[in-house]
Amino acid sequence: MTYKERSDCGQLSLPNVDNTVRLRGWVDAFRDHGDVLFIHLRDRSGIVQVVFNPEFLSSDVYNRAVSLRNECCVAVTGRVVKRAEDTENSNIETGEIEVIASDITILNESLTLPFPISEKAMVMGAAVASAGSVGEDIRLKYRYLDLRRPTMQDHLMKRDQIMRCVRDYLHESRFVEVETPILTKSTPEGARDYLVPSRVNQQHFYALPQSPQLFKQLLMVGGLERYFQIARCFRDEDLRPNRQPEFSQLDLEASFIDDEFIYELMEELIVRIFTIGDITLKKPFPRMTWQEAMDTMGTDRPDISFGLRFIEATDIFESTNYGIFRQILKQGGCIRGINIKGQSAKLSKNVLQNEYAKQIVPSFGAKGMTWMRVVKGNLESNIVQFFSQDEQNRIKERFQAEDGDVIIMIADQLHRNVNDVLGLLRLHIANSLNLIPLNEYAPIWITDFPLFEATGNGITSNHHPFTAPHRTDFNPDDGEELLSLRSRAYDLVINGEELGGGSIRINERHTQEKIFQALRLSEEDVEEKFGFFLHALEYGAPPHGGIALGMDRVISMVLGTSSIREVIAFPKNRNAYCPLTNAPSPVVYKQLAELGLLDMRGGRWAQGKKVM
Ligand code: ASP
Repeated sequence: MTYKERSDCGQLSLPNVDNTVRLRGWVDAFRDHGDVLFIHLRDRSGIVQVVFNPEFLSSDVYNRAVSLRNECCVAVTGRVVKRAEDTENSNIETGEIEVIASDITILNESLTLPFPISEKAMVMGAAVASAGSVGEDIRLKYRYLDLRRPTMQDHLMKRDQIMRCVRDYLHESRFVEVETPILTKSTPEGARDYLVPSRVNQQHFYALPQSPQLFKQLLMVGGLERYFQIARCFRDEDLRPNRQPEFSQLDLEASFIDDEFIYELMEELIVRIFTIGDITLKKPFPRMTWQEAMDTMGTDRPDISFGLRFIEATDIFESTNYGIFRQILKQGGCIRGINIKGQSAKLSKNVLQNEYAKQIVPSFGAKGMTWMRVVKGNLESNIVQFFSQDEQNRIKERFQAEDGDVIIMIADQLHRNVNDVLGLLRLHIANSLNLIPLNEYAPIWITDFPLFEATGNGITSNHHPFTAPHRTDFNPDDGEELLSLRSRAYDLVINGEELGGGSIRINERHTQEKIFQALRLSEEDVEEKFGFFLHALEYGAPPHGGIALGMDRVISMVLGTSSIREVIAFPKNRNAYCPLTNAPSPVVYKQLAELGLLDMRGGRWAQGKKVM
């Protein structure tokens, strides 16, 4: 048989009846029915049932069939027939037909499997052993078997379809795909670098890229005008769910554009990608400033698929007699709340006082919580008697209170604490009361971020130091002014998950130097780390901007998988470890010696402090 004569298992259907077909694949499952033997033969395209009837077969062929075990690799020749009506199997797409085998060759045997691979029952209504409960490390150790499961095959094929959609769309939009180095110099994105020692240049190190940020900007200086790359990025970060030490970003950059170009470009791309998962998104996506997001949802990656927005109540209590509020307001604090509409049946006094006020809210870092239930047009709670009639009326009006509503308020001297606690409470309430609509996707752009944020002992860039500020006339030595600056950055958030982010960049040396100065980088540090880049900005660097989209997260969301590891062929586990190859692993003495790493004490250390 040549490969051209091969038929795909999953493609066979009624029009093929009476055809002789040559199939190749794996034994998904088998069933011995007296002496007639049935197997499910699986290849990438799907599954077809093959029947071995000893009446029509030589004993050689039949005996080979009887010796089959799950996941043997086989070649089968046979004739397609229509199944008898009561034996059809709508579990599989080819369930109206089957193949009556005339020959079988075992191409390769299989050991007993560490977990079941078959996902389809051979008979309608029968149960299938599923790999769902198999530990992830076992799945990753035998990833080559796990990948045979139709679910995983589907994930990788959809991933391929999405990547193709990205490439097609960006080529249509006149972008050029360019590869940038993997062995490179550190690019700050807020994580630690993975370092690669150089043998040729002893005791010197490459860094794996946290992103291609500097190279893509240099491509703009290089006149490419529109660049993209599906780039592997490496970040040595503390482990969190849905993070991988290496991940794929759609990285792009364009010259002579503004942020509107990026919004338009990305919205169309996101709409196309989500269509692959049968999800319809409406353009344009809404936008919200960072400040508004913080003040109404307490986070810069808000889930806007449900309400529960914060309502300002500070002014209502300006001259209150309620001691706790008076105290907090005297110290410059604020009071904000949320109205949980129509949920009073689920939020009894007991639940509000003993669970929310005494346990949940303190675990989010708040000292206390004020709650009120709306009953027959009145506010009811343990403290309402301390509020004047006017205050009560204004609360009802401000929160648009109706019978059945529950109002929760948080007061604190620090505005940030109020937002943080209410933000966590908002998510907790939405999750526990099932207020988050299923299968709804709510994209939003978050804009106007602070350019810098305060750290324990200074400031750091909120995105990265190449992000353009809204204005460039700032004093890099004025800490307070620096913290008041807004950036021209934008993040794309869908259902509370940050899927991407980018910015319009700084394209002239002077401002870039001021940013480094603001970050307290010494001149030597700047020269050592970014000298080449600053120099490039001096040769007519065009105005430019770009964005990066976390493709693993996007694909996982489109396919609705429980983790990004489900859409990556060979991911690391939660401990950044690969159970398949046992990486990372120790190396032998000789290798370290060759790299000059045995004694670094006499070696070269870069001067200066590590910043960013
Ligand atoms: N380099 C940025 C990142 O990886 C994206 C960008 O600013 O384009 O998050």
